[in-house]
Amino acid sequence: MKVLIADDDPIFISLMVDILSGEGYEVVQAENGRVAWEQLQAEAVDLAVLDMNMPDMDGVELIKLIRADERFAKLPVMVLTIGFRAKDIVQENDPSVTDYMTKPFDVDDMLAKVKQMLPVR
Ligand SMILES: [Mg+2]
Repeated sequence: MKVLIADDDPIFISLMVDILSGEGYEVVQAENGRVAWEQLQAEAVDLAVLDMNMPDMDGVELIKLIRADERFAKLPVMVLTIGFRAKDIVQENDPSVTDYMTKPFDVDDMLAKVKQMLPVR
């Protein structure tokens, strides 16, 4: 099972890679929305975990691209964002967002959500 993590914070990315690979997920990384879009097309990703506030292409724009593309019609998308924006973003894109978490989040809560969307084989 392959998870794409898109975030412009390299410390956050390495944390997520450690946590998810420790759970048996394969992780693909992207530092902005444009790279994430390229990775989605190059890799068979099973879940996309997307920061909203990123340079080059932000999460909202990336989600629009994903949802406009038939290839990714069934791709679960989890949004990561700072608290006060979460509700607006999720409503804006509903039902294109599968789940969301606000930063900072509890690692166990994050893992529970990921496992619910994408059980480890
Ligand atoms: Mg960010």
